[in-house]
Amino acid sequence: MKRVYIKTYGCQMNERDSEAVAAMLRARGYDIAPSERDADVVLLNTCSVRDLAERKAIGKMNLLAHLKERKPELVLGYMGCMAQSRGASLAEKQSAVNLVVGTQRFHRVPEYLDEIFAGDGDAIVDVAEESGSESTIKDHVLGTNGDRQVAGFVSIMQGCEMYCTFCIVPYTRGSERSRPIAEIVEEVRRLVEEGVKEVTLLGQIVTSCGRKEIRKKNGKSAFVQLLEAVNEVKGLERIRFTAPHPKGFGDDLVQAYADLPKLCEHAHLPVQSGSNRILKAMNRGYTREWYLRIVDKLRAAQPKIAISTDIIAGFPGETEEDFEQTASLMRDVQFDQAYIFKYSKRQDTPAADMPDQVSEKEKERRNQVVLEILNSGMARMHQKLIGQTVEILVEGRSEKAGKRMFGRTRTNKIVFFDGGERHQGELLPVRIERATTITLYGDIAIHNL
Ligand code: SF4
Repeated sequence: MKRVYIKTYGCQMNERDSEAVAAMLRARGYDIAPSERDADVVLLNTCSVRDLAERKAIGKMNLLAHLKERKPELVLGYMGCMAQSRGASLAEKQSAVNLVVGTQRFHRVPEYLDEIFAGDGDAIVDVAEESGSESTIKDHVLGTNGDRQVAGFVSIMQGCEMYCTFCIVPYTRGSERSRPIAEIVEEVRRLVEEGVKEVTLLGQIVTSCGRKEIRKKNGKSAFVQLLEAVNEVKGLERIRFTAPHPKGFGDDLVQAYADLPKLCEHAHLPVQSGSNRILKAMNRGYTREWYLRIVDKLRAAQPKIAISTDIIAGFPGETEEDFEQTASLMRDVQFDQAYIFKYSKRQDTPAADMPDQVSEKEKERRNQVVLEILNSGMARMHQKLIGQTVEILVEGRSEKAGKRMFGRTRTNKIVFFDGGERHQGELLPVRIERATTITLYGDIAIHNL
């Protein structure tokens, strides 16, 4: 049996695509290797969102090419966003590469590997578009390390048509394509039958799911109709979704946080910048004032809600004044979490050719300033949690945190605690005993559990 190792770069959507490819490979008679050393095939599922992610994947492939010199039968391949954007040039520049598969052809990987093992050694490159490919990411590999897997990811749509000027996703993932609600609900049901208690609905712009195919009903968008349908699945305890666009947070979605008991009290609301001038240059389609109104509405509808965001430091043309607007928005909103990135030029995106690119040194400085605002806010919030009892869903044991067990709150915060394997997969009340900026430590609130 040939063994395949898949290394994944980038976001949760890529993790989910890799999981689905692994499930398809297993169904085709391949085994999934725990490391590249044990593998006959190594596939890199790539990310193009930042230059660093692309450089890492290319560097990794160079190392694998050296390994192949000693082990010529090793099959090497690229999948995903960088495969889509660079196509055949990857195999031309790195002759050790046997396979390049784009973002709408993941499901073809098993048959292409069959062909490579039976064939003459020519590289296979397939980055074509395929209608209906969004429904091919549906198979799962649960609990491969012997643990009960309690959280599952469901890919509900692919592609994006927002064309934010910094973003390569519309070019690598194509136009928006959504799966039917019934098909998504059925996949969630199957996961629950396997023991999953929490699902995260995934898509490049998840809040747009179904908007082309399904009309609003009683003022509710297709995405909110989907949330309502998933909320009805018996045995499911929690629903999350990512990655949304702030424009997707209409009054119907805000109200869903008050109405749907399984929808977790966490909203990821990627603002990117606090300056209206920069938001316009980014083509984000909202203003700072509009964004702040959404934050207020969410907090009014669901007072327990945690809000996280994405920030880009040093977008082209960002002046000190623009940056101060971002810093002040961070202070005003008090985010529970933020993913802060220095602007990274992506080839063929409009922002890459904009004038007044910000120097690396200045981007780094702005990155640090925003990070400090975030960290001091998080530290204050975490201190306030000490003494409170929160519900966590126990996901497993952490090697990094002294082998403690860990779980996630409904507000998407990780809590470490001393517990046993018997707690895995349980919803437990824990009392927060200690907190750092990043981490919460708790104690099981009801003894003898
Ligand atoms: S909405 Fe998100 S995925 Fe789409 S172009 Fe903008 S940043 Fe990229």
